[in-house]
Amino acid sequence: MTPWSLIALLAGLASVNAENLAPKIIIAHRGASGYLPEHTLPGKALAHAMGADYLEQDLVLSQDGIPVVLHDIVIDTVTDVAKRFPERKRADGRYYALDFTLAELKQLQVTERFDPRTGKPVFPARFPLGQATFQIPTFEEELQFIQGLNRTTGREAGIYPEIKSPAWHREQRQDISRIVLQILERYGYRTKSDKVFLQCFDYQEVKRLRTELGYQGRLIQLLADPKASQAGTDFAFLTSRAGLAELAKVADGIGPSLAQVISGKSGEGFTFTDLVKTAHEFKLQVHPYTIRTDDLPSGVTSGEQLFRACLVEAGVDGVFTDQPDRGVAFLRTLVVRK
Ligand code: CA
Repeated sequence: MTPWSLIALLAGLASVNAENLAPKIIIAHRGASGYLPEHTLPGKALAHAMGADYLEQDLVLSQDGIPVVLHDIVIDTVTDVAKRFPERKRADGRYYALDFTLAELKQLQVTERFDPRTGKPVFPARFPLGQATFQIPTFEEELQFIQGLNRTTGREAGIYPEIKSPAWHREQRQDISRIVLQILERYGYRTKSDKVFLQCFDYQEVKRLRTELGYQGRLIQLLADPKASQAGTDFAFLTSRAGLAELAKVADGIGPSLAQVISGKSGEGFTFTDLVKTAHEFKLQVHPYTIRTDDLPSGVTSGEQLFRACLVEAGVDGVFTDQPDRGVAFLRTLVVRK
């Protein structure tokens, strides 16, 4: 390193709040989903090998009450269900994981995400549609897989499970949270020092996990656009100072969208909302979703620019990304880590 580049580096560091350089985490969003189909075990292996700190699992139930790793309660966007079980759709034309036993779900081929109306991939440059062979993993299979990799590599990646649509599951007479907590307990994910963050969009359920169900580990309240109300959760309130103060009584952090953290661009730089600062006042960690280096917000020219905006300038504690290798590489460029 030349003296000039060292000076430039130090000058850059001096302009950054020291608190913003606290340990940061990279969360592999649905695995290394920029490279392999989301929520497949090969995608999780790749994310693990890329050095992601946490690997995400979205969880829904099968008909026989077994948590499986899938992003949606419907399965026609990532599997060949419409070809294999054409008669099993509901009146709305969709196929639901909850209408299939685990043995049936295991017969399905998982593929890169596509639009079931057009058959076209959502991200055309990603893993080719219908290529190679992938299966839906159960939550337990995935935990065994990750814990096995933790052992053989000597590097412990954490888990980041999301309970999907708990109110909808209850309407269908299934208590997904209770089942997921039993599995977490069995696999040693119990306390705030275990490498787990449990996440949910449903505020009533986040409170229930902490109180009625007695979960002792770290909890993340996911935040959506206030206009997109989910399960009666008032996101406008939760992102307010009063809401964050309430949330801090039960949760350890928040998972906002990028747009709830970055308000816009001004010239070469970004402008930010007050959300991160206010959340930190209440000791809430902030993990925004989702950095996709192959699908950047308008005006952003590189993934690294976005990692810097979130992790350094806004001072978030971690980010969800489809390209965990790029996030890990970015963090390594910072002088202080862990
Ligand atoms: Ca998720």
